[in-house]
Formats: sequence, structure tokens, C-alpha cells
Amino acid sequence: MSNSQFIELKPKIVLGVAAHPDDLDFGASASMARFAADGADVYYLILTDGGKGSSDRNISTSQLIQIRRQEQRQALKTINGKGVTFLDYPDSELEITLNLKKDIVREIRKIKPDVVITNDPTVIYSKTRGFINHTDHRAAGQATIDAVFPLARDHLAFPDLLLEGLEPHKVSTLLLTNFEEQNFFVNVSDTLDKKWQALAAHASQISDMEAVKTRFTAIAAAAGNECGYHYAEGFIRLDLM
Ligand SMILES: [Zn+2]
Repeated sequence: MSNSQFIELKPKIVLGVAAHPDDLDFGASASMARFAADGADVYYLILTDGGKGSSDRNISTSQLIQIRRQEQRQALKTINGKGVTFLDYPDSELEITLNLKKDIVREIRKIKPDVVITNDPTVIYSKTRGFINHTDHRAAGQATIDAVFPLARDHLAFPDLLLEGLEPHKVSTLLLTNFEEQNFFVNVSDTLDKKWQALAAHASQISDMEAVKTRFTAIAAAAGNECGYHYAEGFIRLDLM
């Protein structure tokens, strides 16, 4: 049993990697805001174009892609993030390929994060919450874990990246979002309101902001209960040796 939940995390550079615009804001934006307020540079890497996330039949994929990019940029602003990169893989078709891993490695080597945040790819479904974890979320999490270790770290992996001047980089800590199994909590008592601002930016995805707020306030309170904070966001934390 790890005791890492007792070691406070003070990252200098944080990279969140997710499949869709809005994933990081649902899972980790209050923590991102906390880290940014404590002086960290926070970056997002969004792997797909988000072009299928709408039930509105009057909106085209290309319109939706533009809207969601704008929403993600706006959300990042609310948490004082530094920048977001969009890789534009087609939404709902994300596969765990070497190319995807290489694209993530490129970003890790450029940004040199000490902390990377992504989805826990082992979550396929939840019996208690009655949901299936989106295939893109699982692919994003798995490809990111593989990029963090060993591919970003090893100079012999992707020698062409080395020729581009992208030196190997060792990530210190990986945080995985998993709403059911958590061993680390970030105190977000002062930054939960930033999460509402970040989520409100994703207007194309959220029809009832009050319902989202109610649901995620309960989640943050339950996580806080686990660790003695008023509100918290929980993760699986791996400190990489
Ligand atoms: Zn998503």
C-alpha cells in the first residue's frame, strides 16, 4: 500500500493528456487550477478532434471541431493554463498505435512535465455507475502510459525525435483519473469554482450545468471525506522510480 497520498504534490510543469476537449476539465480541472495557482505551468494535449460529440443534427463535424477547440481554449484560460495542443485524430476512432504514442512522446519531450495526468485505461465499465468508459478514453490512457514509460525516457526510442532536438524526458509522477479507486487526493477546496468555470466553457457538451455541478460537488465532497479536505479530486498516483 502506497503512502503517497500523504506526500503533497507541488509540480512545476503539468501535462494533461486526454481524448476529447472536456475530459480533463471533468476529471482534473480543479486540481489543474490548484497546481497553476501554486505556480505550475499547466498544459493540455487533446488527442482527438471531438467531432462526433453532439446529438444536434444541424451541426456538421467541422463546425463541431471548431466549437470544441474554442471551448477547450476558454476552459484552459479559466484554470490559468499555459497552452493546449490538438492532435486531431478522428473522434471515437482512437487506436493505441505507435504513431499515437510517438505524438504523445513528442509533446512530453517538448514540454518536460514532472507530472502527467491522464485516464486510467483499465476502467472499461462501472457496474455501480452503470456506464461504459469511452473507447477513446481507454486508448488515450494506455497510449499515454506507454509514452511516459518507456518511450519518452529512452533515447533509443524514436531516434528521429532526438534528431529534431527532443531529448529524452523522465516524468516523475503519473496521476490517473479513476472515480472509484483512488490513492491520492488534491485539495481543491479553494479551486472547485474554477472547475465550474472550466466546465461551463464546454457549452456544446453540457445542457444542464446545475445538474453537473450538483453531481461533481457530491463527488468532490466524497473524495474530500476520504482525506480530510472539504473538497478534493482523487487519482491513482504513481511515483515513478
Ligand atoms: Zn471524453
